[in-house]
Amino acid sequence: MNGNNDKNRPLAENAPREAPRETQWRPQDGAPSPKQLLDQSHSRFRKRKKEGVNPGIVIFILVLAAVIGVSVFVLATGRGGVSDDVLPETNTVAETEEVPQEICDYIETEPSAVHRGSLILVNHEVAYEFPEDGTGPEVASVYDNCNGLLKVASMSDSLDPVTLSRLVSFASDFEERTGDRCFMVNSAYRTYGDQVSIYRSYSETLGEEYARTYVANPGFSEHHTGMAADLAVVFDDGSSVPIEEYGNYNVMREMIPSYGFILRYPEDKIAVTKIGNEPWHFRYVGTPHASVIEKTGLCFEEYVGFLKNYTADGSALYLAPDGVLRSLPFADVSLVRDSTLIYFVPKANEGNTSVPVPKNATGYQISGNNTDGFIVTVTVGNPAETVTSVDEAVAQTAHDSVLTGEE
Ligand SMILES: [Zn+2]
Repeated sequence: MNGNNDKNRPLAENAPREAPRETQWRPQDGAPSPKQLLDQSHSRFRKRKKEGVNPGIVIFILVLAAVIGVSVFVLATGRGGVSDDVLPETNTVAETEEVPQEICDYIETEPSAVHRGSLILVNHEVAYEFPEDGTGPEVASVYDNCNGLLKVASMSDSLDPVTLSRLVSFASDFEERTGDRCFMVNSAYRTYGDQVSIYRSYSETLGEEYARTYVANPGFSEHHTGMAADLAVVFDDGSSVPIEEYGNYNVMREMIPSYGFILRYPEDKIAVTKIGNEPWHFRYVGTPHASVIEKTGLCFEEYVGFLKNYTADGSALYLAPDGVLRSLPFADVSLVRDSTLIYFVPKANEGNTSVPVPKNATGYQISGNNTDGFIVTVTVGNPAETVTSVDEAVAQTAHDSVLTGEE
C-alpha cells in the first residue's frame, strides 16, 4: 500500500497541477473568458465580412483574430491541452471543490450532536449539556454488568454502556495478566444534583480550597457524561492501597489506552485542566484516540485543539497499519488500507452539518467535541488499535498544540 502514489491521487486543492496557476484563466470583474473572446472574434469577423469593408481592416481583424486565437490556444494548452469546446466555464477552485464528493458520502448531522459522543470535552469552561428532557445520558449499572470483575462503592454506580463494557474487558485482561482482581469503581456517573452534594460535602469537610481543586462545579464535571470513572484498588480481603501506590499501577497505565481510556488529569497538565493530579480518574475516549493522546503527550483539552489541524479540505490524521501516526492529504483517503483516519469537521453555522465520510470506510464514528465541531473516526479494514510511534510532522503539530494554561 502506498499512500503517496501521485498517479492514483485524485485531484485536490493541494495536488500538483500541470500548469502554473498564473497561466490559468480566472474570471475577473467583467473580463471576458477565452471562449467569449473567441466567440466575439468570430462573430466580429463574420459581421465585418458581410458588410464588405476595406480589405486592410479585414486583414487587421484577421491578424487580431489570429493573435487572440493563439492566446486562447496557449491558455487552453496551459491547462493540460483541453480543446476550446471544453474551455473552463468556471474557475479551477470550484472544480477541485467537487472532488471530495467523489470519494466521500455525506452524513447529515444535527446541531445538538455536537454535545454527544465519546470525544466531548467537559471541563471548567465547557459544561455538559444534559438532554433537554431532564434525563441524563443512557447509563448501565456497573454491578449488574461487570460479571463480578469490578467492585462498586455503591450499588447505584452506573456508566455509559460502551465505557462499562470496555472497562470490564480491561479488568478481565488485567486479571489474566497480573492475577489481580482489585479495581473498585469509586465514582461513576453523576447527576447534576449528585455534583451539588459532592461539592458541598467536600467543601464542608475538607475546605473550600480542596473542593475547588478536586471537585468540578455542578454541570462542569466529566462524571456527568457517564464516561468517567474514579477507580480504587481494593483486594478481596478488604485491604486497599492508594491506586498510584499499587504495585501494578504501571501495568494498568500501560494497558488502559488499548481499551480507550486516558488518565484525564495528569500532574503535568494541572495548569490546563484546572484539576489537581488525579491518578484515579479515567475517561473513556475510545480507540485509537486514547493511544494517540498517550503517545503525543497531550491532555484532552490539547488533543481536541490539535485535531482541528486535520480537516477534509487539508490533511487527515492517519494511523497506518504499522502503528505509525502520520498525516496524509485528505484527497488520498480512498487509497488507505487497514488504517484509521481522524479529522475534524467544523459545525455548520446553522442547520445540519454535512460530515464527509470516505466511501471506502468499513466503519465510522462521528462525535461532537461539545463546542464547535465533530471529530470523525474512520476505520478501513482491520486497523492498528494503538500507536507505536508518531512521525515528525505530526509530533511537531502536537507540540504546537500544547497549551500554557494561561487565560
Ligand atoms: Zn473523577
